[in-house]
Amino acid sequence: MKQTIFALASAQGRAGVSVIRLSGPQSAEVIQALLGRLPKPRFATLGRLVQDGETIDQALVLYFKGPHSFTGEDCAEFHIHGSRAVLDRLYGIFRSMGLRHAEAGEFSRRAFENGKLDLTQAEAISDLVEAESEAQRQQALMQLDGGFRERYGQWRDNLIKLLAHIEAIVDFPDEDIPESLSDKIVGDIIALKSDIASAIDDSRRGRQIREGYRIAIMGKPNAGKSSLFNALLENDTAIVTPIAGTTRDVIESHIRIGNYTALIYDTAGLRETDDVVESEGIRRARARGDTADLRLWVIDSSESQASDLSGIRAGDYVVLNKSDRAEAGKIDDLKARMPDDVHLFETSLLTDTGTDALRVALEAHLEKALSLSTFPAATRERHMERLREAEACLDRALGIGFGTPELMAEDIRQALSAFDALFGRTDVEQVLDHIFSSFCIGK
Ligand code: GDP
Repeated sequence: MKQTIFALASAQGRAGVSVIRLSGPQSAEVIQALLGRLPKPRFATLGRLVQDGETIDQALVLYFKGPHSFTGEDCAEFHIHGSRAVLDRLYGIFRSMGLRHAEAGEFSRRAFENGKLDLTQAEAISDLVEAESEAQRQQALMQLDGGFRERYGQWRDNLIKLLAHIEAIVDFPDEDIPESLSDKIVGDIIALKSDIASAIDDSRRGRQIREGYRIAIMGKPNAGKSSLFNALLENDTAIVTPIAGTTRDVIESHIRIGNYTALIYDTAGLRETDDVVESEGIRRARARGDTADLRLWVIDSSESQASDLSGIRAGDYVVLNKSDRAEAGKIDDLKARMPDDVHLFETSLLTDTGTDALRVALEAHLEKALSLSTFPAATRERHMERLREAEACLDRALGIGFGTPELMAEDIRQALSAFDALFGRTDVEQVLDHIFSSFCIGK
């Protein structure tokens, strides 16, 4: 029998009310011991928590009888006054009764093991708790509502039907396969493969919503990159100095732009250097620029010599900074030399002019890149891997053909197991350990 676990479900620290959650067979016994009675399941009861005649706190207590609970086990919730002293006393009592503190993700893991949630829903809970932007909240909720199961479930059903058809061919090897049947099987595999391929294409968007849209600030030293980073963040995370080469590593920060979260990277200034640390910073800056979803170049338009614009590509955002000091004609000259299809902005970060227009444009950019009426069918690398696996299996099945239907059937079975792994039906212990350990305690 599983040990009963407890953890703070609300945030750490002093609070008006904190919620402690219990799960496991001793939940009812603990409530009895502290409250002196067992309340009706799912009804909040106000009472005194008493040990050896001494009142520890007044609390709201809830009892959930398994399997009608989050984890599927007997559960309890104590809504207590959120002080260290109350918590310490209660934790002491729980431990003395044989309970132990929960590990990260353990409540969700028990819910998963008891069939209350599939793996994608457990992941969604973690995402919902972490959500900072409106889009993250909506995406996580869609996934928690079983959005993935609905979509993949249909594909899984199609695979099972395909498998049945192919197995029939395996079972009756002497019969000629009607052309209509083989055409249908091939047509169905192609259709499914194309659905999976478009889900893979779209999964980039899922990642961009969940982890943040990656924006790399690039440019030469002293152009004003750190100043722009801070202006976007509206604080002083990056160190701004007049000494060129101050930012030697990539600094990253989350910001919210409209309904979305963006990850802004302030990178080392790009220039020729003999300094080993600085050149490593420059290498990282270039790598960051290559993998970013958007590159935001900062150019010092007051520089007397012609600025180097190599590296700027169509689709990039370019900020012509230090407009307060730029000589007449310099900005027009820079604009004339820009590659086609870049988005141009003029700013003076010193006097805080031009940044509003940039912010508005970034918000519109994210809205266009990330909002669609449907949410993506994959949000994590794990999901993408499984989709790619299923796609590869279908590809192989098509290549094999009806000469050896048993091999075709095997590939369809493997595609099925890729879907099953997505929902945690076949995942091994280690994979589950890895997934749940990234959750926070009390979830
Ligand atoms: P980075 O090396 O590209 O990160 O550049 P910083 O943001 O550290 O800025 C380099 C220097 O330029 C600092 O002294 C800033 O105060 C100054 N600076 C940044 N933006 C402007 C601007 O728009 N106008 C003027 N005149 N100076 C600026």
